[in-house]
Amino acid sequence: MIRKTVTTALLWLLALTAMDVASPAAASGPVGDYGVAYSRCFADGTPGEAAPAAGSWTCGEATHSIAAQRVFVRFDLRRGSEQPRYFETRRAALAGVDVTSIAADGLTRSVHFAPGQLQTSRRGGYVRVPVPTLQAPVSRVIVALDQPTHRMALEQAQLVPAEAHDRMAGRRILLVLAGLCGMLLLPLMFNIAFYRILRETFVLWHSALAVSLLATVLVSSGLAFYLGELPVMALSAANTLLFGLSVGAAGMFARTFIEPGKLHPRLRQALPFASAWAVTASLLHAVFPFALRAVQSDLYYLAYVPVLALYIWVLVNSLRRGSRAARYQAVGWGPLTVVCIVRLVSGLIPSIPSHDAMTLFYAGCVVEVLATTLGVADRFMAMKDERNRARLEARVLGELSERDPLTGLMNRRAIERRFRTLHREGFDTVAALDLDHFKAVNDRYGHAVGDEVLKACAGSLGGVTDQLAIRMGGEEFLLLLRGKAALARAEEIRRLLSVHIANEVPILETPVTASMGVVQLPRSFSSSASFDMIYERADKLLYEAKAAGRNRIMSEKLSLFTAPPERRKAAA
Ligand code: GH3
Ligand code: MG
Ligand code: MG
Repeated sequence: MIRKTVTTALLWLLALTAMDVASPAAASGPVGDYGVAYSRCFADGTPGEAAPAAGSWTCGEATHSIAAQRVFVRFDLRRGSEQPRYFETRRAALAGVDVTSIAADGLTRSVHFAPGQLQTSRRGGYVRVPVPTLQAPVSRVIVALDQPTHRMALEQAQLVPAEAHDRMAGRRILLVLAGLCGMLLLPLMFNIAFYRILRETFVLWHSALAVSLLATVLVSSGLAFYLGELPVMALSAANTLLFGLSVGAAGMFARTFIEPGKLHPRLRQALPFASAWAVTASLLHAVFPFALRAVQSDLYYLAYVPVLALYIWVLVNSLRRGSRAARYQAVGWGPLTVVCIVRLVSGLIPSIPSHDAMTLFYAGCVVEVLATTLGVADRFMAMKDERNRARLEARVLGELSERDPLTGLMNRRAIERRFRTLHREGFDTVAALDLDHFKAVNDRYGHAVGDEVLKACAGSLGGVTDQLAIRMGGEEFLLLLRGKAALARAEEIRRLLSVHIANEVPILETPVTASMGVVQLPRSFSSSASFDMIYERADKLLYEAKAAGRNRIMSEKLSLFTAPPERRKAAA
């Protein structure tokens, strides 16, 4: 079952990776993806500088360095192309954007946009600004990006026509994304149910992971457009921070979820540090995007290399140690690990355009959360079984501790706990019974025969309705009786005991007799009188029976427990 799931998941993973990597990451060619046809050139500049002269441009390249403080992107529109409505690019921190429209007759118009004026595109993870309109058709657009912080801001710089926005924001895609969010919400509801039953930390970390991935999908996809007028740079920072929080929560989840002994202790200890490192790196990158601007995104990617390496190591180690939890994690982490690798490799190698593998990323979020939810459910069932077994064991042990192993009767502990209830249920006659000269039986026939006699005695006393037998220790028993003529029945039992033992243990040459001390309690017996006091009374009567020559019964009826005996009777 698990192998089949893993194989299917891997096939999906391969297909999605192929689809994602093959799809163009940017409008890098000479023609824009959305109907505006142009060729694109880049040039470097300094802050506030105007667009450079013709010779300084590099044209036709898919990527360009962000080393300069100001980078120009020039779009030369093809003849007959649709008019651009917006300039769009990947969302990353920017200090400002200048957009200049130029008409064929030389008419120009420039607009400056501060970071706070940048808009969220309908397309997930993109930022946009309107291209200034002119009286005559626009033939060239020059965009100056101040302090770009990510190569993708240049690679994915593009012009889009007005109506293309509705096409880009394809309703179907949004529906799929909304569905993904729903799937990420589902595990949260499961987790609430799990946590109410099993208060395990990993359930909390799993919820944190699901929440941060849910928020990541919301913020990084086209759904962000519908979140309201949130400042686009705040969304960019939130996206970075949420990524760190997701990675951190995933690490802590692994630490608490992988079974004890199924992960090398050093690796388990390393996980919180990796989580803290990931959160800190993302926080710093989000809050100070311009600190080491030109190299910062590379450094940020590099910061994640050890984290990724550790997570892979954790997985391999726990899988080799036979962790069941790790199997679910392997499936869950698979797609996101591939996303991380694609981002790291494409982000760090300057000659290939940066690729954020968004399709795979969304699928990865869902696979991660669903696979780990299955894992949590699986663990939940295992823990529940374990708990039920422990409860059963405790009950059996509890029962055993109240049973006498030789005779199977209740022992003193059991009656001490239940006496009050039994009295309330009508057991009002308490008889202490002791075999006469039992030591002599042991001495003559041996201990084994003595045991047989004790078992026969128990067999004779127990198993009758309205009559309960307890072995108090050695060859001493207690009988509780309820119903009519309890005293007479006690005497009958005592007499028949000898016959029963003689039948069960035929080796005995002389009958084994018993003495009995019986206390009859009144219905309104003071419940404050403890079992010990009543037992002491019955034992005293038993002693009197012994002293009077054995093989007899001594009884008394109590009107009030503390009052002197109402009637004392002896029978032999
Ligand atoms: P009395 O009539 O005064 O009660 O005399 P007794 O010999 O029955 O009483 P005593 O207290 O002198 O001896 C009780 C004996 O019961 C001694 C002990 O070895 C024996 N006994 C106690 N528990 C067991 C048991 O589990 N199995 C066997 N075979 N003997 C036991
Ligand atoms: Mg005895
Ligand atoms: Mg005794």
